[in-house]
Amino acid sequence: MLHLLPDVSLLPYNTFGIDVPAEFFAAIHSLADIEELSAQKSSIKILGGGSNILLTGPVRGVVAHNMLQGIDTVREDETHVWVEAQAGVVWHDLVLYAIAKGLGGVENLALIPGTVGAAPIQNIGAYGVEVCEVIEQVSFWHLQDKALVHCSNQSCAFGYRDSVFKNGMKGAAFVTSVLIRLNKQPHFNTSYGAIEAELTRIGVQQLSVQAIAQAVMNIRRSKLPDPRVTGNAGSFFKNPTISAALYDELAAQHPGIPCFRLSDTHVKVPAAWLIEHCGWKGYRRGDAGVHSLQALVIVNYGTATGSELWQLSNEVVQSVLSKYGLLLEREVQVW
Ligand SMILES: Cc1cc2nc3c(=O)[nH]c(=O)nc-3n(C[C@H](O)[C@H](O)[C@H](O)COP(=O)(O)OP(=O)(O)OC[C@H]3O[C@@H](n4cnc5c(N)ncnc54)[C@H](O)[C@@H]3O)c2cc1C
Repeated sequence: MLHLLPDVSLLPYNTFGIDVPAEFFAAIHSLADIEELSAQKSSIKILGGGSNILLTGPVRGVVAHNMLQGIDTVREDETHVWVEAQAGVVWHDLVLYAIAKGLGGVENLALIPGTVGAAPIQNIGAYGVEVCEVIEQVSFWHLQDKALVHCSNQSCAFGYRDSVFKNGMKGAAFVTSVLIRLNKQPHFNTSYGAIEAELTRIGVQQLSVQAIAQAVMNIRRSKLPDPRVTGNAGSFFKNPTISAALYDELAAQHPGIPCFRLSDTHVKVPAAWLIEHCGWKGYRRGDAGVHSLQALVIVNYGTATGSELWQLSNEVVQSVLSKYGLLLEREVQVW
């Protein structure tokens, strides 16, 4: 039975720690709740762990807090196991499920905050792996068509921190479950230098999904601010992808500008470097700031408002644009 609660503070529901009210708030425990909600209301915002949103003011309509639970192994063959997780499962709990069974594919994505249902929205990624590499199918309730849809990996149009759910289907799909395919014989990805170094530091002799996840968790805990202590949503901006020709021009003007080669024709430029070299790293105005160790992370030191954080992010975007001619795109969803 669906309960709509009026005027609920979203403070406990977002990792930036912004205190704004939702006009209505509903905890979603079943597909029936989603069906009932979509029959009653047209303005629906879906909330998972609130770790990738910036709340800039009171939220009109209903904030639907996704609580769909359950992880099941649905089939297996000699080499793979297919696992279906309901959208309200904490992402890291799904990673722990895979690790406990020694199954590979998501170990590099350990400790990413948030829910399973949000994972395909921006195609979460870390340490050389993106979730689209394991997703077989995303099931969602189509809020306009009022029907359950099963979307293949290909139809999700995954890209770098991108998917159809941020574009053509934006706001129309309530993800209910995700089917992933895990490896019985994992192919370990330690291409990120920091992982190799951490594995050596903790004395790992033999690679395993457990060991890699442990290395990733150690690195993440040492590098990223804990939202329970300092409000943040992880990387606020995406790394710009540009042509190799443009990169060569930039490198001639700004020696030392780094890049990751994506192909013969395209490179990714680390946004953190651009922001740092515009002088923002460690900047603080009131309670809004740019993290002192990781310039990609915008932080709320206490009582900054969403508008103040938004304004700061605009200033960062403008300064990178005027110095380097590159337009930073926000990874965080602004409500
Ligand atoms: C400290 C920290 C570190 C982070 N590190 C990483 C990282 O390494 N890699 C990375 O990719 N991200 C990272 N993030 C960002 C964040 O963890 C991910 O984007 C995560 O997938 C967000 O999940 P959530 O449940 O909190 O989503 P929310 O913040 O609740 O929602 C994010 C967006 O997804 C939509 N959404 C949520 N659930 C559903 C659903 N069921 N159906 C349809 N739409 C939905 C929301 O409407 C919103 O637009 C980090 C965040 C923090 C705070």
